[in-house]
Amino acid sequence: MNSKRLTRILDTTFALAIGIALAVFQPVVTAQEISLNTQSVEVREDQVESIGGYWYVSKEEPKTYYYQDAGRWLDLFSYHCKDSNKDGIANLQISHDQNHLIIKSQGYPNHPTAIFPNSDNPNTIRVQDFTFRLPLVPRKSDSITRLPMGPIGMSLNGVVFFNPFEMEGRNAVAGYDEVWLDSCCGHPQQTGVYHYHKYPTCVKSPFIDQGKSHSPIIGFAFDGYPLYGPYESDTTMAMELQGDQALDACNGHSDPVRGYHYHVTPNRFPYILGGYAGVVEPSNNRAFQRRALVSSGALQDNTQPGDKYGKIITSVRPGNLVRGKSHQIRIEFDSNAARRPIPEGNPNWVQVGPYEAQSIQREGNTILAKISIPNDATIGVWLDCHIEFGSENRPLVIKRNDAVRVTID
Ligand SMILES: [Zn+2]
Ligand SMILES: [Zn+2]
Repeated sequence: MNSKRLTRILDTTFALAIGIALAVFQPVVTAQEISLNTQSVEVREDQVESIGGYWYVSKEEPKTYYYQDAGRWLDLFSYHCKDSNKDGIANLQISHDQNHLIIKSQGYPNHPTAIFPNSDNPNTIRVQDFTFRLPLVPRKSDSITRLPMGPIGMSLNGVVFFNPFEMEGRNAVAGYDEVWLDSCCGHPQQTGVYHYHKYPTCVKSPFIDQGKSHSPIIGFAFDGYPLYGPYESDTTMAMELQGDQALDACNGHSDPVRGYHYHVTPNRFPYILGGYAGVVEPSNNRAFQRRALVSSGALQDNTQPGDKYGKIITSVRPGNLVRGKSHQIRIEFDSNAARRPIPEGNPNWVQVGPYEAQSIQREGNTILAKISIPNDATIGVWLDCHIEFGSENRPLVIKRNDAVRVTID
């Protein structure tokens, strides 16, 4: 069984466990069902112990860690602590000491991914043995610490964030040097570390992002500051803010309830982080130990003009997919624009964001794919689309960024 089939089972189990059937079983969603899944956890102050900053741990075993996010109690990790790849080891194991939340992570995606290796990436996704230490009480630094290569932070599922550059120091996300990221915005490097270079739209959060208020937390930087989704308030993304509230060169800003925090910036460099605004915990990345002096300053955009993958898939319609419904999407591609010949026959996989097609048909250069959008889909964020042709052994892959987004109606 490959990894994505395992995660498909897991996602189904999760959806059923929280009492919400997937759209494929129950296409009609009510407002009540949505709010059921968006409420914060009920926590009584006397049941938890403060361990520093916004962090709390339950007094009872098994220990559950909570984060107080703008007054809401969040259990950020319980879902992601499951053993999604069925190797007998939990994806995440969490503990703490006096100054740090300590996270042991397999760094393994618990959402569907593309098959790797494929025509655009020779590497395989491998289970990792990471230990990350997040400062419980992040501290602002006098200067911006430059982001190293390799892991710079951790998504809630334990998969790592990388800076916007590939090894050669070129922008991996956009332009001429864009690399092939699957529709969950990740890919593995040489040692099998699956990582995100931009907003990972497939990571489940305890909150659904309705695009109506401040986005939920999606991960943490290695200085301990939280990273949020793109929205600041109803229909306004944090990257659109001006003046005092504008994001700084690190992609962060402060507010009275969250303190300093970062936001992802879809389609805008640096996409995740531009630098560390806080004092970074050096044990999280060997690059900090190799260099006697960590250099400072935010990363500079070096996008070269070009659109490497955008010309192969020429259109995806409809562009808006209603949550809780099944959709037939029509994907047109230009086989002449592909760098390698596209095989005859149906593709064996079509995926938009985390959602895989249940049925796929092809007529010439048109693909018809049936995709169900579950009731807990994130609203308003553009999702990438990827398609795999050929066998499970190095399929030929194509993609289109920002192909569709999920709407309520
Ligand atoms: Zn990469
Ligand atoms: Zn914010």
